[in-house]
Amino acid sequence: ARFVRDLPKLELHAHLNGSIRRSTLLSLAASHGIDPSSAQILTRWPSTLSEAFSVFTVIHSCVTTLSDVERIAFEVGEDMASDGVVYAEIRSTPRAMEGGSLDDYVRAVLRGFGRYRLTSGVEGVVLRLILSIDRAKHTAADAQDIVDLATAHRLAGVVGIDLSGDPTKGEFLTFLPALQRARSLGLKITLHAGEVANTDTEMSAMLDFHPDRFGHCCFVSDDNLKRLTQSRVPIELCLTSNLLSNSVGSAEEHHFGLHHANGTVCCISTDDSGVFGSPLSNEFALVMDAFALDERQAFELAKRTLEAVFLPTSDPGTEATEEERRDWSVR
Ligand code: 5GP
Repeated sequence: ARFVRDLPKLELHAHLNGSIRRSTLLSLAASHGIDPSSAQILTRWPSTLSEAFSVFTVIHSCVTTLSDVERIAFEVGEDMASDGVVYAEIRSTPRAMEGGSLDDYVRAVLRGFGRYRLTSGVEGVVLRLILSIDRAKHTAADAQDIVDLATAHRLAGVVGIDLSGDPTKGEFLTFLPALQRARSLGLKITLHAGEVANTDTEMSAMLDFHPDRFGHCCFVSDDNLKRLTQSRVPIELCLTSNLLSNSVGSAEEHHFGLHHANGTVCCISTDDSGVFGSPLSNEFALVMDAFALDERQAFELAKRTLEAVFLPTSDPGTEATEEERRDWSVR
């Protein structure tokens, strides 16, 4: 346990609201008069993906103000640092809330990160933000707005765009124009893919798009699996999330084994540590145990994740807008 805690880890797939501290969720629920025992799902872990989505609905009904959002962002920094995470790309779906626009939401998250950074000691975690498009709730125009928001806040730490939300709803192709524009603006892109069965056509279209990372990929046909391996696109893998939501039968059967053996960059991640109750150190322990990795191999695994980070490799000024360039020169 000590080894996985001390291992310097990178977290590349964590949803902000899904990473809410349980104690914070319970106290926000109480302040909204939501009885956790009546909302049964708050007192046990979900056992299907659709149940996990019911938990997000409850979380969203508890997290209703910009200061709640800022608090969660701050606490995620604290929790990750205490778990030995050194770098994290946290993703979140901008939501309009009491007295706030989508832009205010993004600012609240970034304020939480900034406040965490100010109070953290030498062992702090570096935090970056990915903005999520919700495939079930957003329109093509909403997705374009999210790309605009990401572009506007790039210098403040937004590094990319994610496509997530209920995988049984919405169409990848609806969001393709926004994703293509995001790419042309220099934003990196990660796509939730193959979370449910019978999504081969969508997976083929996603492979044609060639994102910078994929998430999950639990249900992939043999043909697409071949293309996925050849594409060399890194995959974010969340074992506990897949096991609890019944997408994968056991840790030993998890597709990590296959991708790791194929040389694909596997980014071990938590998904929603507040919903599934497993911090990143525990995910590493699970992988080491199920696939008999020794400490050196676990180090190698954590280190290879670095190849998949969305931090810009070149001077961000080269792809910046005029306005950003002005900001930049002020620094
Ligand atoms: P938020 O974006 O509000 O910070 O985090 C919660 C949201 O992340 C959920 O409402 C959902 O849209 C997305 N999310 C969290 N976990 C998963 C997951 O396992 N699969 C998918 N497709 N989306 C998820």
